Amino acid sequence: MKKYHKKNIATKVLHAGNHPEEGSGAITPPIYQTSTYIQKSPGKHNGYEYTRSHNPTRTRLEENLAAIENGKFALATASGMSAIMLIMHMLPANSKIICGDDVYGGTYRLFTTVFHERHQFIFLDTTDTKNVKKVIKKEKPQLIWLETPTNPLLKITDLKALAEAAKKEGAVTVVDNTFMSPFFQNPLSLGIDIVVHSLTKYINGHSDVVGGAIILNNKKNYEKLFTLQNSIGPSQSPFDSWLVLRGLKTLAVRMRTHQENAVKIAHFLEQHPQVERVIYPGLKSHPQFKLASTQMNGFGGMITFFIKGGIRAAKKFLENVEYFSLAESLGGVESLIEHPAIMTHASIPPKIRQQLGITDNLIRLSVGIEDVDDLISDLKKGFKAV
Ligand SMILES: *Cc1c(COP(=O)(O)O)cnc(C)c1O
Repeated sequence: MKKYHKKNIATKVLHAGNHPEEGSGAITPPIYQTSTYIQKSPGKHNGYEYTRSHNPTRTRLEENLAAIENGKFALATASGMSAIMLIMHMLPANSKIICGDDVYGGTYRLFTTVFHERHQFIFLDTTDTKNVKKVIKKEKPQLIWLETPTNPLLKITDLKALAEAAKKEGAVTVVDNTFMSPFFQNPLSLGIDIVVHSLTKYINGHSDVVGGAIILNNKKNYEKLFTLQNSIGPSQSPFDSWLVLRGLKTLAVRMRTHQENAVKIAHFLEQHPQVERVIYPGLKSHPQFKLASTQMNGFGGMITFFIKGGIRAAKKFLENVEYFSLAESLGGVESLIEHPAIMTHASIPPKIRQQLGITDNLIRLSVGIEDVDDLISDLKKGFKAV
């Protein structure tokens, strides 16, 4: 596994964990669609006993994920949420957790409705480095949960600075790196302890699998998480592991195109008269353009914009685009469009949504890899209908 770490990610996605199968020489690894494995004598086996614990197809995916995030260990889970759940179970009861105030809606729901009795959560604007450092010193949290860029406001958190501050106080840092994918950002290389992904998004990239991953370097924490995964049971299935391994092969070419299209669309939106404001980390108008340029290897494929005319204009626009499918989720090859206040972020109370700036005229785009001129024509059609 180690030898891939020095290679470029475009090579790693194709080769890490993807060695030809030994028996037949098959270039494409088989799907080990089995629940159990034969033993020569009780307890004597080849490292595989039962698929909830281990499966050779999942092992290959985990090798690949570790390599592309520059980590030593990876776990592939049945969903992004189950990966997040395992990390919450790893902490002793009554842990203090500092969490970004603009995280994925499902993460917010998990923390405030499932784990709020087990742990204490402190929600903060993590882009305010000075304040977060102060709170870390004062509260001495066990864990710091970060997303950067955030969803849907695409705010950037300084990972190096917060990783350092957390280390001083003995807090574990976690970054949900779903939005950037390992192609555009590698938190472990910036000093972060644990990376989480929803494989459902860019990593699989084809909108046909739900999955999650945890990648880290600390062996003790890996062993704890493995025991939890085996005990609780949210392991990724062999077939879905195989699909993600296949999707991953094109991660580099997909991400390059997502970004190329997103940059063009962000510029188009920025000068459109029916647009109030565009948020994209690759625009010079983004308040943290400088930090984004140094911390990330690119700016990704997600764009947020505010349409003029409030909720009515937003609805009309969403109903009249064709190639941007109106759907939750993101990161697939096909373009998606959604309304966070009604769809992905509905579980956040309206008052808090207003405070955060997730207003009723906010629209989020997941820019796909279609022809960019066709995508821009489609957006023009939406604006005309308004
Ligand atoms: C989708 C998503 C998740 C949850 O992942 P699932 O695979 O849907 O369970 C977590 N974090 C972010 C940033 C996401 O976009």
